[in-house]
Amino acid sequence: MTTLEVRDLSKTFHKLRAVDDVSFTLTPGRTVALVGESGSGKSTVARMIARLVRPTSGEILLTGSDGEPVPRKAYRDHVQMIFQDPFASLNPFHTVEHHLVRPLRLHGRSGTEVPHLLERVSLPPDFAHRRPHELSGGQRQRVAIARALAPGAKVIIADEPVSMLDVSIRLGVLKLIARLQREENLAVLYITHDLATARHFSDEVLVMHRGRIVERGPSDEVLTRPEAPYTQQLAAAAPDPDARFRQGGQP
Ligand code: ADP
Repeated sequence: MTTLEVRDLSKTFHKLRAVDDVSFTLTPGRTVALVGESGSGKSTVARMIARLVRPTSGEILLTGSDGEPVPRKAYRDHVQMIFQDPFASLNPFHTVEHHLVRPLRLHGRSGTEVPHLLERVSLPPDFAHRRPHELSGGQRQRVAIARALAPGAKVIIADEPVSMLDVSIRLGVLKLIARLQREENLAVLYITHDLATARHFSDEVLVMHRGRIVERGPSDEVLTRPEAPYTQQLAAAAPDPDARFRQGGQP
């Protein structure tokens, strides 16, 4: 079982303690939501896990199914990011196929897997020949998700994956990530400022405020009966968390 453990992680930018002693574990088949207002340090946590930012202190340990630490090169394959803006994360001159073939081949897999990858993210096979501008925002995010799956991802870090998409298609993309998590036994970190989707799409929630985790626990419990004053404040400011999911509503 591949697990990713974040242990006592901190990051200081100049004098700002952006992330302060954060610990949690991601395990297969579970989604952990990291919630908090803008500037609370969520993306910095994501970037440290993706190895885009070097921690000031602390550790990030990826352990394989054999119980051994995963080597550095394999870490890059196993831990994949999905970013907020799918347009910025795709090359406008490259076809969907090009975006997928490269990571497949780099990781010793065949380009003939492209139709299967597209099927996994519920896109038709002929989309392989399209370029990003020929896709909707939601379709582009599905391509970005397929690209994350291409090298054999086991851990997905989804940093505000739907906040730049039209409201009407957000639910579809979140449902896709949830299905992949379940069916492919992925460990998912879902970063969001939206408490309603965090509650609906995660098993456990970590509430972050000024770089620290101020409350954690089962999402349904923490987000309906918060104990920390900061979480209570966040929950009170959020719209009715259930309303958007009643009768097929869209988040
Ligand atoms: P969130 O994702 O919750 O909005 P961030 O992790 O992006 O929060 O930012 C946390 C804090 O760290 C903010 O005050 C932000 O300005 C600061 N910060 C993030 N990246 C850098 C950087 N590269 N240099 C200096 N400060 C940064």
